[in-house]
Amino acid sequence: MRILIAGGGPAGLTLAACLKRHGIDCVVVERAEKGRTGGYSIGLHVNGWNVAERLGLIGEFKASAMPLGPALHRDRNGRKLFSYDYRTLFKASGGRMLAIMRHAFQDILTRHVEGDVAIRYQTTVAAIHDDGDGVDVTFSDGSKDRFDIVVGADGYRSTLRAMVFGPHEDFLRPLGYRASAWRVPLKAPLGASFVGMMDVDHQGGLYAVGDGTAATLFCWRDERTERLDADGRRDVLQQHFGAWPEPVASALRSAIDWDTSFFDTVSQIEVPKWSRGRIVLLGDSAWCLTFLAGQGTSTAMAGAYVLAAELARGSHVQAFDAYEARLRPLVTRMQAVSRKIGGHYIPQSRLGMRVQSWILPIMLSRPFAKLASGLFSAPALELDA
Ligand SMILES: Cc1cc2nc3c(=O)[nH]c(=O)nc-3n(C[C@H](O)[C@H](O)[C@H](O)COP(=O)(O)OP(=O)(O)OC[C@H]3O[C@@H](n4cnc5c(N)ncnc54)[C@H](O)[C@@H]3O)c2cc1C
Repeated sequence: MRILIAGGGPAGLTLAACLKRHGIDCVVVERAEKGRTGGYSIGLHVNGWNVAERLGLIGEFKASAMPLGPALHRDRNGRKLFSYDYRTLFKASGGRMLAIMRHAFQDILTRHVEGDVAIRYQTTVAAIHDDGDGVDVTFSDGSKDRFDIVVGADGYRSTLRAMVFGPHEDFLRPLGYRASAWRVPLKAPLGASFVGMMDVDHQGGLYAVGDGTAATLFCWRDERTERLDADGRRDVLQQHFGAWPEPVASALRSAIDWDTSFFDTVSQIEVPKWSRGRIVLLGDSAWCLTFLAGQGTSTAMAGAYVLAAELARGSHVQAFDAYEARLRPLVTRMQAVSRKIGGHYIPQSRLGMRVQSWILPIMLSRPFAKLASGLFSAPALELDA
């Protein structure tokens, strides 16, 4: 069996690693150039952790993890609202959680598969034809190849999904927010693992990466879904956060490399059936949960693990059905959690801010953290069924 994976993000690279484990041949095409840095931080939770353990990579992930400790939240004038400690939350989740920069995460997976898996950078699928017995693919450089299966792991704005399943808009469930994330150099230490600021309809903050830089994350209520160029993004960020004090002010002044940063509408992807013929979707292209759930990477990894295991068992028809049957309940649950979190994460009023400032530190304190983790985290998926 020969498989093409479109997209070398968390889903595509984990799938390549899992297929390698089963001795299945695959090729990855990735739109970006090799070795992108920058980007944003991602939290690895139980399902990602369990996959990383099975791939023998958890030690490397831990070694590259970001330091985690106190988180401090302020209002937009810099006045302290509340604080908590990430370590309490991590302990409450059984210790199977870590935070890592996305590029560090990808480097580890890339090193793991390189040599066994061909990764073609700056390459995309230009045309695709499934004739029932195989899939003919023409790549953006004009070359052609034939595969038994093609996996669309090319993210939220999946081109493969658009080519095979239908236009992006058909699968979009906008949550009413926009978000942006990029990396900035720090002139002075943040004094906490995370410094967040909030206002009505707004959240923003910086995570200390541990190397003199910080990863930002900004989110605000915004119903618009059209794409913006670099100037448009700057304008919107200025309009929403331009009057905020340090450390937000410096973050907004920094140069932003949009090739490695994030600016988009916060929307979920809902595809009624994740496969069509010999083509199957995986990760954000199939079920984007949004960053609000904080579980997109781990769910993509679990999906990759299950898909590879099912493909190793037998026919692609049965494998696709079994993969969807095993993943769909988790995805449906985490999409609902993500929608619920959105309503709390972005306060809708001054009263909402006060309630959040009161409830969050209690929920994230030692006696209640286990309960909070149970409510909002994904349950561990049975990986070896
Ligand atoms: C700001 C932010 C914070 C987040 N925080 C967390 C978190 O804390 N925890 C967590 O678990 N998740 C988090 N997420 C979600 C997580 O990043 C995604 O769920 C996860 O990256 C999905 O992986 P993926 O491989 O499916 O898609 P992507 O990460 O989108 O990767 C897709 C890959 O495909 C490539 N590509 C795109 N188009 C093409 C094409 N046409 N051809 C070839 N390649 C293509 C892209 O360059 C990319 O490398 C966060 C997301 C954001 C935006």
